[in-house]
Amino acid sequence: MSVVIIGAGHGGGTAAAMLRQQGYDGSIVLIGEEPHPPYQRPPLSKGWLKGEVDADALTLRPREWYGEAKVGLRTSTRVIRIDRDAKVVELSTGDRVSYDHLIIATGARARKLVLPGSDLAGFLELRTIEDAEAIKAWFKPGFRLAIIGGGYVGLEVAASARALGAEVDVLEREDRLLARVAGPVLSGFFREVHEEHGVRFHFGCDIAGFEGLDGHVSGVRMANGDVVGCDAVLVGIGALPNDELARDAGLTCDNGVVVDAEARTSDPAIFAIGDMTQRPMSIYDRSLRLESVPNALEQARQAAAAISGANPPKPETPWFWSDQYDLKLQIAGMPFDVDQVVVRGDPGSRRFSVFHLSGGTVQAVEAINMPQDFMVGRMMLGARRSVDPSRLADTGIPIKEV
Ligand code: FAD
Repeated sequence: MSVVIIGAGHGGGTAAAMLRQQGYDGSIVLIGEEPHPPYQRPPLSKGWLKGEVDADALTLRPREWYGEAKVGLRTSTRVIRIDRDAKVVELSTGDRVSYDHLIIATGARARKLVLPGSDLAGFLELRTIEDAEAIKAWFKPGFRLAIIGGGYVGLEVAASARALGAEVDVLEREDRLLARVAGPVLSGFFREVHEEHGVRFHFGCDIAGFEGLDGHVSGVRMANGDVVGCDAVLVGIGALPNDELARDAGLTCDNGVVVDAEARTSDPAIFAIGDMTQRPMSIYDRSLRLESVPNALEQARQAAAAISGANPPKPETPWFWSDQYDLKLQIAGMPFDVDQVVVRGDPGSRRFSVFHLSGGTVQAVEAINMPQDFMVGRMMLGARRSVDPSRLADTGIPIKEV
């Protein structure tokens, strides 16, 4: 038996390890186009930029592990085609590798901004170690960075850039930060914290293009003629799924490869995991494309269990984290159909949580420096039992008793 994994990122690397952990003893080939063994991306916008994390700490497993676990790791190699009839993948090297089971874990790529002037030098994006190295080389006191997009990656880079003394302007199309991924309480809180650290925000931005000087970007031009001067632009406007291989192979795709609760695609021999999948979320009765480490790990476990014949893992509540300055944000669940928002604690104290309820049931919790609220909130989500909002808001009652 043989398993081929396309994409040696967080999901692909974990799937290889899970297969071995679950007793699968057939051949495993892990193929990735990056020159590195699988590594973690979250520190790239956080500790790595500030020089607090080195390359060894990013790596999921040391290179020797792949030899010891008999995982054939092929880095700097791109898969260019999946031949489902022959059950073979074709590589950029010209080699063909056959599989009994295939796991696609090709992740996502940064969405590009195509506007007049976006071909000037000085545009940055953040997805890989190389991107992070390029960004790090720029940050120094007085350097002016314009960040397009007030999402997590943009805000984390803003915090790291300020820590290194750079000037930061964040340009956001919506009227609040994190508009797609967090509630208004959290948006307002993060705005305040970043402003205290000297970040300048511009909301409702309609960006018309970029100004240049000697071929290098020198400013962001709005439709109303305003210009925000800068020495570089970081584009953080979301990511697109790398689902082209799957689409070309005729697998069902809809903003990512459509998979079931076992991470299986429309071809029973092919699984897909991580950022590039559209997956069912049983607790919300809908399907979603998630971009988070816990999601990639959960689906790696699902695929490995299905292939090795182990018991399927229990469904997990989706969760996510973000670190900015001295704040640890942990989010569980998704705020769908919310009819009540309960704030537990005082945002001014920098330790509080926001619970999103629907019909008295917790749909999501956003916890700032409150790991226990996050943990209990996650359990509440899983249990689907209703809670008393007034008890939830009362910090005199320990969260476990709520
Ligand atoms: P990836 O880890 O992106 O791996 C996909 C791999 O496939 C890549 O190496 C890619 O080069 C390779 N590949 C693509 N196409 C091919 C091909 N044809 N042939 C061979 N190889 C191919 N998540 C959190 O939960 N918390 C965080 O705080 C957080 N912070 C983040 C910060 C940054 C800067 C970034 C970029 C992401 C962050 N994430 C965070 C998201 C998290 O890193 C991703 O959700 C996770 O990496 C997804 O794993 P994956 O395996 O799906 O994709």
